Amino acid sequence: MSIKLILLGLPGVGKGTQATKIITEYNILHISTGDIFRKAMTNKTTLGVKAKEYMDSGNLVPDEITNGIVEERLNESDTDNGFILDGFPRNISQAKELDKILNNKKSEIDMVLYFTAKKETLINRMIERGRNDDTIEVIKNRLEVNNDLTNKIADFYRDKNILKEIDAERSVDDIFSDVKKLLDNIN
Ligand code: AMP
Repeated sequence: MSIKLILLGLPGVGKGTQATKIITEYNILHISTGDIFRKAMTNKTTLGVKAKEYMDSGNLVPDEITNGIVEERLNESDTDNGFILDGFPRNISQAKELDKILNNKKSEIDMVLYFTAKKETLINRMIERGRNDDTIEVIKNRLEVNNDLTNKIADFYRDKNILKEIDAERSVDDIFSDVKKLLDNIN
């Protein structure tokens, strides 16, 4: 089965956890822009050095950098059998760019899973996760930066009739059970 999927939701909503479960169950490629940037930072590549100042403050890396990374990744042949995009698109300009990249490959997104939870839940989950870039100030800024943008992206895909909203206040397994039902109905 070939699924082209976007995981949408604010930081801390559990996208990464669900992504891990999806790739295990469906043997599908996971493309996380956050992971790509973190790896580049660890390896101190040119990209990593550029991305660091934005990531350290919880701001978005500029589209010129991010879109190029995603285009390069999606043009690799291992994506032909499907993929999960996690952390991209983060704004409408990235969403439109993604359409363009996929159009060029005569391809399109099948479904957008939109995970939602209360702001307090997200803050608590990010504190528990305790990543280096997860100080309380950065967490709050990251939610602020992403909230409006995420709503706009949800609208963009709702208009295309491919948005599926999932209540992510529940347990990991309950959420995944809903995810599976949706994915099993794609092909
Ligand atoms: P994440 O792991 O998805 O929460 O991403 C961590 C950080 O990487 C974000 O706070 C941004 O600084 C950067 N980042 C990840 N994905 C994107 C994106 N699509 N556009 C811009 N910046 C991004």
